[in-house]
Amino acid sequence: MTLGDGTLAVGAGRPAPEKGAPPLPGPVFAAYYHLPGEPTGPYTYGRDENPTWTLLEAAIGELEGGAEVTSFSSGMAAVAAVVLSQTRAGDVVVLPDDSYMQTRSLRERLESYGAQVRTGPTAGDAQLRLLDGARLVWLETPSNPNLDTCDIHRIADAAHAQGALVAVDNTLATPLGQRPLDLGADFSVASDTKAMTGHGDLLLGHVATRDPKLAADVRLWRKTVGAIPGPMEAWLAHRSLATLPLRLDRQAENALALARALRHRPEVADLRYPGLPDDPAHDTAARQMRHFGGVVSFTLPDEPFAERFLSSLRLVTQATSFGSVHSSAERRARWGGDTVAPGFIRFSTGIEDTEDLLADIHQALTKAGQAGEVGQ
Ligand SMILES: *Cc1c(COP(=O)(O)O)cnc(C)c1O
Repeated sequence: MTLGDGTLAVGAGRPAPEKGAPPLPGPVFAAYYHLPGEPTGPYTYGRDENPTWTLLEAAIGELEGGAEVTSFSSGMAAVAAVVLSQTRAGDVVVLPDDSYMQTRSLRERLESYGAQVRTGPTAGDAQLRLLDGARLVWLETPSNPNLDTCDIHRIADAAHAQGALVAVDNTLATPLGQRPLDLGADFSVASDTKAMTGHGDLLLGHVATRDPKLAADVRLWRKTVGAIPGPMEAWLAHRSLATLPLRLDRQAENALALARALRHRPEVADLRYPGLPDDPAHDTAARQMRHFGGVVSFTLPDEPFAERFLSSLRLVTQATSFGSVHSSAERRARWGGDTVAPGFIRFSTGIEDTEDLLADIHQALTKAGQAGEVGQ
């Protein structure tokens, strides 16, 4: 029987009911486990395994459509585990040039280890042209923060024909929004700090794969570098998964309503949301995604306008994350590093009531415009 997302999410990774046992056992805080005699596992030492991770990893594996999952202390720990465990000196790695900033920063490290790095944009499946002799191809779709998409199936087929492995950063979509492994990728990787856990109170990441050898590589990497999740974070994450489908539905609903409203505002340029039927990313997104996510990007006239807009919002906090139940936004250019205009806004929709959110955004845009006129 194939379960719906809601049914899947509430039951994922929960142990079979047992009289007197809690439905989801609490976090297990242990640096070591009693271990007389032969050191047989799974629970030997706290850096190797933990029962709270085991349950969370089983849950995420179910959401990924069946996969072996290794959880990490952060999304970057998960990204680095795949990239650095799979690359040797002389290997060719293909990265998107518009990926999450920190992923791109792995380029320098890879090159210092003697690997060759090629980069190309996400849009138009441009990485297809860089596959010759590659060992690992990294995709991020939709990309962050520009929200371009690429065809995972198409690139994975071409990469496999060259003998390359394919990893997808699936942070924005989550496994209920897009299943990279079903689309042919070897690794589905995510920062679970974002929409997956959605409450803005923890950092976590995971790697999912259906290949036992690749899973073992990633698990050994975690043990070697010690990038392990805290039991409290793992337990909070597992608890959060039950509401993932509800949160994703509402975030996507708010994002679409926001995108539709912004298109009528004269201050707004370069509006992007993969869920808008005429967005350049829509066709690919519609083929491979089941939710279009809760991130909308757009450009306001200039930096002062964008700053006035952000500080005039009442329901939306300024923060550099996305996927939370609370809406947040930021002027992305403040970090440098992304190729975005000074007035570029990355907006993450939470689960507030749509009308309240839209009203807040309209008043903030109007206020930002008026203040500009007064100042001139
Ligand atoms: C946030 C993010 C990461 C890094 O995750 P952390 O949990 O902050 O380490 C990686 N990829 C994408 C697309 C992200 O948005």
